[in-house]
Amino acid sequence: MSSGNKRDYYEVLGINKTASIDEIKMAYRKLARKFHPDVNKEDPHAKDKFIEVQEAYEVLSDSDKRRNYDNFGFRGVNVDMSDFFSGGIPGIDDIFESFFGGFGGFGGFGSRSRQNRPRREVGQDIEEPIEISFKEAMFGTKKDILIERYVPCSACDGTGAEDKSSVETCSQCNGSGRYRKMTRSGFGTIIRESECPYCNGQGTMIKNKCKTCEGKKVVIEEKEIKGIKIPPGVEDGVHLKAPGAGHIPSRDAVPGDLYLKISIQNNRDFIRRGNDLYTKADVDIVTAIIGGKITVPTLDYKNNEISEKELTIPPGTEYATEFRIKNSGASYIQGKGRGDQYVIVNIVIPKKISKEQEELLIKFKELSKS
Ligand SMILES: [Zn+2]
Ligand SMILES: [Zn+2]
Repeated sequence: MSSGNKRDYYEVLGINKTASIDEIKMAYRKLARKFHPDVNKEDPHAKDKFIEVQEAYEVLSDSDKRRNYDNFGFRGVNVDMSDFFSGGIPGIDDIFESFFGGFGGFGGFGSRSRQNRPRREVGQDIEEPIEISFKEAMFGTKKDILIERYVPCSACDGTGAEDKSSVETCSQCNGSGRYRKMTRSGFGTIIRESECPYCNGQGTMIKNKCKTCEGKKVVIEEKEIKGIKIPPGVEDGVHLKAPGAGHIPSRDAVPGDLYLKISIQNNRDFIRRGNDLYTKADVDIVTAIIGGKITVPTLDYKNNEISEKELTIPPGTEYATEFRIKNSGASYIQGKGRGDQYVIVNIVIPKKISKEQEELLIKFKELSKS
C-alpha cells in the first residue's frame, strides 16, 4: 500500500507525539463521533475520514504498534483496513461499547464482534432536524416529534413470506447461506467461499412474498416521540440522541438511534458566543454625556422569560463600552452555572435636529471652550 498520501497518525487525531493513552482515547472518541457515517450522511467523505481516524487509533492505542510507528513510520506498521469493516461500519454505540469494554485485546470492531458474539444486525440511525426558538434554547423545552422509520412487518412477522410454507430452503446453497466457487489455475484449485448470491446468505428463499411488505420484511412506521427533553443552553448544530428510536430492520436487530439536530432561530436582541450573550444598547448622546438609565433585554431565569433590565449608564460613557451582567448568559450543558451577558453601547447621533436644538448645541460648544 502506498503511504505517500497518508496523513501522520498524530496529525489525524490532532494530538502531539507525547500524548498519553487517555489523550489518544479522548481524541479518538471525539473524532469518531464527529465523522461517523451514520450522523454524516450528507458528507461523502465522512466514511474515509472515519476510517482514517480508526486506523490512526488502531496503531496509536497499541503500545507495540505505536513504538514501531514512532521509529519506522508507516513502514513500521502493517494495518489492513480492508477487513476492518467487513461486518459493516459499527454503530456509534458499538464504538463506545468497544471503547469502554477493555483495551488490552482491542483489535478492530469487525473482528472483535465476530469472535466474541454472534453479530446482531444493527439498525440505521435516523437524523432529524428540529428547529427551536432562541428562548427555548435558553430555558430548555420539551418537544414532540414525528418520525418515519422501518420496523419489522407484523403481517409476516418480519420474514417477508406470505405464510410459513412459502419459505423454502435455498436450493443453491442447501440452506448454508455460503457459496463456494472453485477456480482452477496453474497452481491448483483455489476455493473461495462467499455469501450465497441467490439467498443473500439467508439460506432460505421466499416463494410467495408477503403482500403487506412485498417481501421487504419491513414496513414504514410513523412514530410520535413525545416529550423529548431539550436542555437549557443547548447549542446550535448539536445532536441530541434518543437511543433505540432509529430503524429496526428485523425482529432480533439492535434498533438504531435517533439523532435530533438542533437548529436555533436567530434572535434580533442577542448574539451568542459560547455561553456569553451580547446585546447592543442604543444610548442617546445626552445620556452618554450626563449619565442616566437605559433598559436592555435580558434573560429572566426566575420566570424563564426574556424580559428587560434597567442599567445605569455613568456620565461620560463612550461608544463600544461594555457592561457585564453576570450569570445572564446561556447555561452550561455540562456542569453548573451560566455565561454572562455583555451590553455593548452604541451612541446614537441624531441625523436631524431642530433649529432650537442646533442653537443650544452651538451654545454648548462655546461654553465647552472656556
Ligand atoms: Zn443460498
Ligand atoms: Zn410482510
